[in-house]
Amino acid sequence: MTEKPIIVVTGGNRGIGFEICRQLAGRGAQVVLTARQPEAGKEAVKKLAAQQLSAEFHSLNVTDPGSARALLDHVERAFGRLDVLIYNAGIYPKEDSSGLNVEVETVRTTLETNMLAPLYLSQTMAPLLKRSRAARIINVSSGMGALSEMQGDHAAYRISKTALNAVTAILAAELRGVAAVNSICPGWVRTDMGGPNAERDVSEGLAGAVWMALDAPQSLTGKFVRDREVIPW
Ligand code: NAP
Repeated sequence: MTEKPIIVVTGGNRGIGFEICRQLAGRGAQVVLTARQPEAGKEAVKKLAAQQLSAEFHSLNVTDPGSARALLDHVERAFGRLDVLIYNAGIYPKEDSSGLNVEVETVRTTLETNMLAPLYLSQTMAPLLKRSRAARIINVSSGMGALSEMQGDHAAYRISKTALNAVTAILAAELRGVAAVNSICPGWVRTDMGGPNAERDVSEGLAGAVWMALDAPQSLTGKFVRDREVIPW
């Protein structure tokens, strides 16, 4: 059984998820890079290999419960445990709008990917996380979901990230002593989602995620963290 930390990353084929995989592989972790489109996932693993970095691909559409259970079976067979689950996949729908105008259907689909799927994936992977000596769940959230700085616009996305933070706080309470569970905010990052005018390069935005996965004290749990600092919910 490998001593390397075994880390599953969702939405690992591009943007922040890919860079998380790249940096964790560079630190010697056993990375399971997941993506819903197998071609895109395999291409991402090839890109890492071209940089002498190793990760394995496994298919995962986060909104498909069967896909999550297949991932559980694979990780159980391959490694027998899971050390870190990084829920990074997310959507920021173009049709999102103000609270007064957003279509309820848009809110529903955003909640599905950004809140229900991470809840279900944590439930599914919990038995394997419980076999780790230092289990962690890291939910990639957003300052746009912080109630302390809530504003109008992008209501579906904001609500979904607030709800994701609630998932984090609830699981942190229920898994205290078993797994550290935290939300992180990467800041505004230049990716397909963040756009070209975002303040941060992707490597900057996720240094906090890599720290949270490998270096943060195990006692840090139930928090919302940006750049290694606890921030208000
Ligand atoms: P991105 O470039 O749009 O990438 C999103 C990733 O999520 C892609 O890999 C996408 O896969 C994946 N994904 C979406 N739905 C999925 C599903 N059903 N199953 C599996 N994968 C799915 O976004 P990003 O900027 O890297 O954002 C990553 C995370 O950071 C998100 O949770 C986002 O909310 C958060 N965040 C980003 C920023 C920012 O400024 N960029 C700021 C705060 C928080 P496909 O390629 O198949 O679509």
